[in-house]
Amino acid sequence: MGHRITLIPGDGIGPEVTEAARLVVEATGVEVTWDVQHAGTAVMEREGTPLPDRVLRSVETNRTALKGPITTPVGTGFRSVNVALRQELDLFASVRPALSLPGVPSKYTGVDLVVIRENTEDLYAGIEFEAGSGALQRLRAELRRLAGFDIRDDAGVTVKPISISGTRRIVRFAFDFARRNGRRAITVGHKANIMRFSDGVFLFTAGAEAQFYEDVWFDEMQVDELALHLASEPETLDILLLPNLYGDILSDLCAGLVGGLGLAPGANLGWEYAVFEPVHGSAPDIAGTGLANPIATILSAAMMLDHLAETGAARAVRRAVASVLATGGTRTRDLGGTSSTVEVAKAIAEASHEELDRADGPG
Ligand code: NAD
Repeated sequence: MGHRITLIPGDGIGPEVTEAARLVVEATGVEVTWDVQHAGTAVMEREGTPLPDRVLRSVETNRTALKGPITTPVGTGFRSVNVALRQELDLFASVRPALSLPGVPSKYTGVDLVVIRENTEDLYAGIEFEAGSGALQRLRAELRRLAGFDIRDDAGVTVKPISISGTRRIVRFAFDFARRNGRRAITVGHKANIMRFSDGVFLFTAGAEAQFYEDVWFDEMQVDELALHLASEPETLDILLLPNLYGDILSDLCAGLVGGLGLAPGANLGWEYAVFEPVHGSAPDIAGTGLANPIATILSAAMMLDHLAETGAARAVRRAVASVLATGGTRTRDLGGTSSTVEVAKAIAEASHEELDRADGPG
């Protein structure tokens, strides 16, 4: 029986890269019915909200989605669609692998990292108070009364909640992920010396849970030290387990270690739903030009195929990406090539088909 999947093209380069991924998935022969649901800036103009209810209902019905990036205007009252989707569907775990690939120019070799990022709490929880607002005035007065804290009257405030229960589930997820994927070590990144009651909760909850997983090495590092470690010897690290904000920042850094955002896939997972999307954003600077590298979205689709237990197809897509990159002729401008998004997608689709034929062939 085929799979019904919500496809959210997104905006900017989103429609181009999701179309490319769709082409590759279809080339594997896996039967998919795509339930296309638009969200983002154009939808905001038409429907008054960038994330209409129908999009959430579609993911709830189909349980799996492939999503392109969606633009978030900076500094407006407009809540990020990406953050809202993760919170509404309780997609608490973000999984972002960074793997050195053959033929990709990079300062580093042998990188094989996975960032596991808590996706619902921390400074991204959306608890914000605008400078000068009545709500913030009341909050300032209350903080002064409760504990003598003084916040400048021209400050804006974002609250950073990190709970034991929210941390426990991402820690368990990370250890189970390590076991399922034969990974050896988890490093927690934090700043618990400064933020004792938020990062402190993350660190101590992770440490307490780690005792139940003696087969996986557990380590912790302050996030600034971790950034240095990533820049100097990334090949020594395995899984990075991070609260929301550090996870966002370091997953872009990890993408940079293996050839850039055009190659970095991701998954947002909860107990019930799964949304697969590249790490990169909507790249308005190259939207509509055919310059976008579709590989990050194609590899996100491969993660989706694994999630759907289509492991043969997932393996074929990953091998096809590696072989197209290793051959070197067909690549987009970010990797030093001249090929278009569609040309790269077609080459990977064809190579996926060949990989599957080879797997089906005699011994
Ligand atoms: P970005 O990732 O869109 O772009 C950063 C740089 O990388 C740009 O120079 C861009 O051209 C390049 N780039 C990104 N993806 C590429 C690809 N596939 N191929 C080739 N080059 C690529 O980051 P940004 O400019 O900070 O963000 C743009 C918008 O995207 C913002 O509104 C931001 O909020 C949004 N965003 C959305 C998501 C998401 O939907 N999950 C994630 C990150 C950013």
